[in-house]
Amino acid sequence: MSIEQVFVKQCPKTTALNGGSVFRGATNPLKLADILVVLGYVQHTQPIGSMVLNAQIAGDTKDRKRLVATMTDFLHAQVIPRELAGALAEAAVHEVCDTSTCSKCKGTGVTNGKSNQPCSKCEGVGRETPSERSVVRYVNKHLTTMMMSRHAYRLRWYPHYMDAIDRLNVEANNAAHAIRRKLREDD
Ligand SMILES: [Zn+2]
Repeated sequence: MSIEQVFVKQCPKTTALNGGSVFRGATNPLKLADILVVLGYVQHTQPIGSMVLNAQIAGDTKDRKRLVATMTDFLHAQVIPRELAGALAEAAVHEVCDTSTCSKCKGTGVTNGKSNQPCSKCEGVGRETPSERSVVRYVNKHLTTMMMSRHAYRLRWYPHYMDAIDRLNVEANNAAHAIRRKLREDD
């Protein structure tokens, strides 16, 4: 059973599977009860990564909301005004959790047939990455008392935004590894 299927079992409403690259090649036949124990354990040890996976794969809106709050605090701590931190957090969670599978590599993150070559379109991420223009538009959609110019984004906020993206991806990968490790142990 793949880890995508683990999440589908846990959240039966799920129909669309995104972010497949995180779970490449995991197979293991397991009972639902065992799976829930594993997910519970990882939720405890990797709370942020678990939320990313829940939002990304199972479309969990509560965890998505919690992630935005967590990343708002993370960005605010980097001396970013609260409102802007919140909008940048929204955009980062959107990029990591809502975007669809890369059309070129179908989410595998590698060039067709060459497992050691990262996909040229998504650079190995496995998902569509939004353009600078669309990130700026998305951030501004979540601002009410201020506007962020493309220039300001490029000059001041881009590194912070990428910090947030990297953190979300690293946490998700750690949680996915922990789930895989646990599933193997319990085999
Ligand atoms: Zn790709």
